[in-house]
Amino acid sequence: MKALQNLLKELEPTRTTLVAVSKTHPPEKIMELYRAGQRDFGENRVQEMIEKYEQMPKDIRWHLIGHLQTNKVKYITSWVHLIHSVDSFKVLKEIDKRAAQDERVVDCLLQFKIAEEDTKYGFEPEEVYEMLRSEQFKNMKNIRIAGVMGMATFTDDEEQVRGEFRRLKKMFQHLKDNFFPDQNSFREISMGMSDDYLIALEEGSTMVRVGSLLFGEREYV
Ligand SMILES: *Cc1c(COP(=O)(O)O)cnc(C)c1O
Repeated sequence: MKALQNLLKELEPTRTTLVAVSKTHPPEKIMELYRAGQRDFGENRVQEMIEKYEQMPKDIRWHLIGHLQTNKVKYITSWVHLIHSVDSFKVLKEIDKRAAQDERVVDCLLQFKIAEEDTKYGFEPEEVYEMLRSEQFKNMKNIRIAGVMGMATFTDDEEQVRGEFRRLKKMFQHLKDNFFPDQNSFREISMGMSDDYLIALEEGSTMVRVGSLLFGEREYV
């Protein structure tokens, strides 16, 4: 638990939320952190998150951090805490529809493509502006946009990573000023993983998603 305590100490001054990324790790290992007080856990695959949700204590806050397919939305809207990985208007509409059936408002982050690699999912800025201006978006009652999320390029070049995080922070501020000026609930910048969370903290992250630093290396991905 030393890794957890050390990390929490680093996050405390900026009150950054720790999402412990438990993908690939079994419930026993997650319970070690749970017993130490950790409640926010992140998974990147819907099926795996459902299995863990069903077996594990109900006060865990489950964060979906991986790509969400439209046909899987209905399995999670009644209990998911935060979806970090909304990357299309289509999936957002489905979340709104299913959340309405579950009589819930589901918090969502808009995932932006900030990395160089084009394999990563995420919105381009223009798509988001168009979506946020649309009547259909304004009529959605069962989703709430709580902020933005991004993944930096996988590289040793710290300045590149820093630049990408800075762009995400700027995007957050732009959206806040132009689309959510009076909404305190629009406040999260989910950025930073095991290898780059210190840079993310310096650049204004409010939520870090840390896996291997807490759980050790994954055996498969
Ligand atoms: C796996 C994953 C993480 C955590 O990665 P680590 O390098 O193990 O900290 C964070 N965010 C996303 C989207 C992930 O898929």
